[in-house]
Amino acid sequence: MISGSAKTPRPSMLEGIFPEGRGSLRGAVQREGVGEGKGGLEGARKGARGGAVFLVVVGELCILAGSKSSEDNKDYYRRNMRDLFLTNTMSRQKELFKPIQPGHVGMYVCGPTVYGDAHLGHARPGVTYDVLFKLLKYLGYKVRYVRNITDVGHLEHDADEGEDKIAKKARLEQLEPMEVVQTYTNRYHEAMRMLNVAPPSIEPRASGHIIEQIETIKAILDAGYAYISNGSVYFDVEKYNQEHRYGILSGRTLDDTLEGTRSLDGQSDKRAPYDFALWKKAEPQHIMKWPSPWSEGFPGWHLECSVMGEKYLGREFDIHGGGMDLMFPHHECEIAQNVASRHTQGVHYWVHNNMITINGQKMGKSLGNFITLPQLFSGDHPKLDQAYTPMTVRFFILQAHYRGTLDFSNEALQASEKGYKRLMAAWRDLTAGADVPPERAYSLASANESGTSAPACKGEGPVQACKGEASASVKALCEAVVDALCDDLNTPMAIAHLFEAVKLINAGNLSPADKAALAKLFDEVVGGVLGLVDEEAAGGSGKAEKALEGVMEIVLEDRRKARAEKNWAESDRIRDLLAQYGITVKDGKEGTTWNLE
Ligand SMILES: [Zn+2]
Repeated sequence: MISGSAKTPRPSMLEGIFPEGRGSLRGAVQREGVGEGKGGLEGARKGARGGAVFLVVVGELCILAGSKSSEDNKDYYRRNMRDLFLTNTMSRQKELFKPIQPGHVGMYVCGPTVYGDAHLGHARPGVTYDVLFKLLKYLGYKVRYVRNITDVGHLEHDADEGEDKIAKKARLEQLEPMEVVQTYTNRYHEAMRMLNVAPPSIEPRASGHIIEQIETIKAILDAGYAYISNGSVYFDVEKYNQEHRYGILSGRTLDDTLEGTRSLDGQSDKRAPYDFALWKKAEPQHIMKWPSPWSEGFPGWHLECSVMGEKYLGREFDIHGGGMDLMFPHHECEIAQNVASRHTQGVHYWVHNNMITINGQKMGKSLGNFITLPQLFSGDHPKLDQAYTPMTVRFFILQAHYRGTLDFSNEALQASEKGYKRLMAAWRDLTAGADVPPERAYSLASANESGTSAPACKGEGPVQACKGEASASVKALCEAVVDALCDDLNTPMAIAHLFEAVKLINAGNLSPADKAALAKLFDEVVGGVLGLVDEEAAGGSGKAEKALEGVMEIVLEDRRKARAEKNWAESDRIRDLLAQYGITVKDGKEGTTWNLE
């Protein structure tokens, strides 16, 4: 029945609502022009070892040298982007974001190890870096977002011990490891799509980059920071730490690192417990293995991100994201590998999202509080009082700052559900009968430069579209929302400001220009950056469905009257007409029901 509302939005509708590429490149814009200082040519050259990056640089120069006049070029670089601040884990400070190459951002985020369904712990980085990705594009950057799939080399324990997680799952389920990888990659994609997380620009797999990983191992061996032991290759942390600092990101010392690690039992090929594998010799029964100069084996888990980051984003790139649990040892090892193989830490801004706890406890399979995203969306888990829609989950994640912990409980999710619905209802009110097209409204993305704010209406259009500007208070509110997002992705603050807008909308006396400004804010920021989709409109009980229900009531009332008058010809005529449009009418004891096929 059409009146039955779907619990989750239909994928095709979500895709249609927010197609990729909304954030247009509004001119490459950075305080320093190309050729000036570190952010200019020099930085670009430094980052240009990867061919793809070099092409981007060349493209930028073509714009400068070719098609634009020098006056245009001045304007091109005079328009500043809104300042964006990010907390850099490396400095523990909120820093002004300055990309290596003006107007372009390279971002790498550690993706999932695909051996099981995505859970709440995957949803948080998924949504966090999706918002950062969308915000950067909204601000006018051209972004290359790389998020990897780990399909080999991630062992059960951090100390290079235990079975490969994917190989283990393959053994238990009697599948080829690549079947496991494909199944859970597909399911991960599906869960992310439901959460309206945009796909990254490139999604490389570790197993597709074995040759590059072997080359990097050779470079680290040549530099003297690794040793071969019984067919495996290990990173020599002590040697590295004499000349550099292992622990620079996490703040750990080697002694700290030793704490909590089991002492070597003599079986290990490692010289020291904190050494980590670059290449592991495979046991004879191991399926996923490749030839190398050292043995048939497989790469260590930390290596893939160093290698694929460099391959797709260059020797140095702007942002590296991931969960806080990856800061040590994973990201620390990445830095050591980068310095050892390419003489640079490689990453300018380290961004880490905090974890999700469940009723104050860490989430874990053994604790019975491990909730996968499909379970969350269906409600099929003993800890769940109900099903939660993907947008409720997304809104719940956005209500906390990404650097703070986020505690899951049914109460918290139910509160998020209410808040999300209130925001969407206000959005619907805003767009119902809007008489100023949002594209004519006040422009936000680069508005912090004085004098560049576009008037509420510009150019030709309906008369009512040009009835003055948005009020100062509404403009300030719009600015505050974007400012909050640019202040280290402060989504809870942005949402708090959005609820001020909800109050104004619900009061019902906004001017057309104010309505247009808020409609643009909701369209570009609530939808475009925060990635919230109106599930009610998308999912099956939206406007068209409600209108059909209303019309059917009217039609069936006429038919009921005809039947009461025993006018069977008229009753049958209505029934047959409806059937032509796929609507079946059934008369039963309980009255008349209808169904749209
Ligand atoms: Zn990684």
